[in-house]
Amino acid sequence: MEHKMPKTWSGPWTALTKPKARRLLSGHETTIQAILERLRTARTVLLGTHEHPDGDAIGGELALMHALRLQGKQVTAYIPDPAPEFLSFLPGFEELTTTPPDPAAFDVVVLLDYTQLYRTHLEAAVKAHPNTICIDHHYDNKGEATINLIVPEAAATAQILTELFQSTGIPITRDIATCLLTGIFTDTGSFMHDSTSPEILQLASDLMSKGARLAHIAHETYQKKDLPSLRIWGRALSRVMVSETTGAAVSVITMQDLEECGATLDDLSGVVNLLNTLPQSTFAMLLAEYEPGKIKGSLRSEPQKHVDVSKIAARLGGGGHKLASGFEVEGHLVEQDGVWRVLPVKS
Ligand code: 5GP
Ligand code: MN
Repeated sequence: MEHKMPKTWSGPWTALTKPKARRLLSGHETTIQAILERLRTARTVLLGTHEHPDGDAIGGELALMHALRLQGKQVTAYIPDPAPEFLSFLPGFEELTTTPPDPAAFDVVVLLDYTQLYRTHLEAAVKAHPNTICIDHHYDNKGEATINLIVPEAAATAQILTELFQSTGIPITRDIATCLLTGIFTDTGSFMHDSTSPEILQLASDLMSKGARLAHIAHETYQKKDLPSLRIWGRALSRVMVSETTGAAVSVITMQDLEECGATLDDLSGVVNLLNTLPQSTFAMLLAEYEPGKIKGSLRSEPQKHVDVSKIAARLGGGGHKLASGFEVEGHLVEQDGVWRVLPVKS
């Protein structure tokens, strides 16, 4: 099918229209210009993000999808795992696809919020592609794309996108504002994490002015729990223990728990933050065996606890931020004589 494209670029994505780019993106002007130029000349764009995508991954991806489509681009928004149901209120949600794409068939590939390339499930194809763009706020992103906009000072990838859009005159529609504010809201733990700065609250205010409804976003992402969700939260909370050796607040969820509650891994989103509320704990860890032999670990800490959980996650093959990180390991979660253990998967 012939796709009609404007012959000349008519959109505003040609330059940093506001000379005083906000502080967050200061020093990244050349990278931003290169990104805009790459996108300006592209006809087809593939968007990707990390496995088990969260509010920032999906909010950012959908925001960019809408923005690029407004410029007449053909956009495919790929996610390596199905999106959590609680994000289904986001405009464009139904267009996300889990069907593995062929990156070589697209002019440009943009990867968001992914930390490590393997988590996009597109690693080999992206390494072979000549036009790839990375936009991420994870400090341990190695910057393996052709153009890399990595801003570890940002609380969310959606914050980078908001400032990118604002500073380059990319129109922020109500739909785009909703997607961006959802990314910011979820990655700042409902504006409660240490990363919540005056600047990010100003951005949230700007996005509300563009039509994003914060109360609605809060309701959809945190304030609405169905029965399976409440039941699996109950199990995780009832099992919390404080490790004698590390002082960590730990809980575990097995496949059996998920099955009995009719819940999925997504329903556990937020549990680890609640475990982290225990004042005497050094950090919080939730382990969930969500598929046979696959355990997802989530780690959280707080500034006054002085524990960098990204180092713990990195030792286990994962990554993330100092106060919020995660990993995935192989194993079975089993209780033996009142002690929870991770047993190796038999090959
Ligand atoms: P969550 O615990 O909410 O899944 O993730 C918290 C943070 O840790 C996020 O910034 C996320 O990107 C990072 N993270 C979670 N799981 C993994 C993982 O398996 N590998 C890496 N590299 N980072 C992860
Ligand atoms: Mn993020």
